[in-house]
Amino acid sequence: MSDPERVKVVVIGAGQAGLSVAYYLRRFELVADEDFVMLDRAPGPGGAWQHRWSSLRLGTAHRVNDLPGMAELGLSFDTADRTLPAKEVVADYYGRFEQHFDLRVRRPMNVRSVVNDGADLLVSYEDLSPQPIEELRTRGFFGRRRRTYEEAGTPRHGIVTQFLVNATGTWGAPFVPYYPGMSDFTGRHVHTSDFVDAEDFRDRHVVVVGGGTSAIGFMLELEEVAAGLTWVSRRPIDWLDRQELDLEGASAAVARQDEAARSGRALPSVVSGTGVPKSRRIAAGIDRGLLVARPMFHRIEPDRVVWDGAAGGMARADAIIWATGFRPELRHLAALRLREKAGGVTVGQGASWNDPRIFLAGYGPQASTIGANRAGRMIARQIMAML
Ligand code: FAD
Repeated sequence: MSDPERVKVVVIGAGQAGLSVAYYLRRFELVADEDFVMLDRAPGPGGAWQHRWSSLRLGTAHRVNDLPGMAELGLSFDTADRTLPAKEVVADYYGRFEQHFDLRVRRPMNVRSVVNDGADLLVSYEDLSPQPIEELRTRGFFGRRRRTYEEAGTPRHGIVTQFLVNATGTWGAPFVPYYPGMSDFTGRHVHTSDFVDAEDFRDRHVVVVGGGTSAIGFMLELEEVAAGLTWVSRRPIDWLDRQELDLEGASAAVARQDEAARSGRALPSVVSGTGVPKSRRIAAGIDRGLLVARPMFHRIEPDRVVWDGAAGGMARADAIIWATGFRPELRHLAALRLREKAGGVTVGQGASWNDPRIFLAGYGPQASTIGANRAGRMIARQIMAML
């Protein structure tokens, strides 16, 4: 590794949370150009949105809040073209935002570890630019393939920093629960983060697992395409009698996230706290019997999922789509030992309570596009006070 640079603030992740922090730090010149570095491993702007499937549109189910300062560019997601894929719109707007505020995001730079360096922190990252861009665009990059890059001698760099803002989101840490027989399944296991196009499942028997908007979206998209479609959920679906999330339900869910983050517990599922609103399209899906979830199956056989017990039964499966969520992506922080026995990281107001040099933007109560925005101001203020 070449000699590390020295700066005051490193932000890891240029999604909504990272950009929001960067906006406040840079726009108000709280940190000079040469004291600020932003790293992101994706090939282009857009945070996690750039990896989402093409059929996903901005709308009532997927609402992205504007970044602070976006109005200055004359941009708003509220008036964005809803006929275009959300991934394109978000990548375009975030790209223009980065340029306008001269954020100089370094990408594709994958942070491998953060360790103590005296009173400071050493951030080690690899430059993924020699890698084929299409590979970086697919989820394979996040998982097992990481090792290939190590073996290929990917260029490594280091930066020593006073403060670290970790804004790495969750997209790179998909969660799939374990069920007996999983590894014997001869069909495809597909996580939300692997989903590209409903056409990939034409004439296939598909089982969709999950109780949130992603699972519901997949059911609606696959209805006309799949040969057989089964929906299962680990919990009964908590349908709301309204078309959009109500503010009260959403704030109660955020409060639960905040409480868990402050006490260092693993974060609860957001959807279990908010319920699922019934848009007209969803209500019609329920009425025609498509959106009726079965309880979770007990095990998986090579070509089917199976329910044991009195009710019993099976459903044929060529593919199982796991819309079972994500976890905060924090493995590069492992050496800092932030994780508590209770399974989470203790975070309040976006700051680590165990290490005053570290901020977690977009974590817990900030893990929505509204929350990620708020993180910006809150974290920038705290850094300013300590600099
Ligand atoms: P991200 O957008 O994930 O950005 C994190 C960035 O960090 C990425 O660019 C990534 O490349 C980078 N990164 C990660 N690890 C590293 C590393 N080790 N080194 C370098 N860079 C790294 N929220 C809503 O409010 N409304 C919605 O409609 C909505 N829809 C969603 C749909 C799906 C399918 C999913 C999975 C989530 C959805 N969310 C939605 C939640 C949404 O992801 C967040 O609200 C918000 O976009 C997260 O922003 P973020 O900046 O925290 O993370």
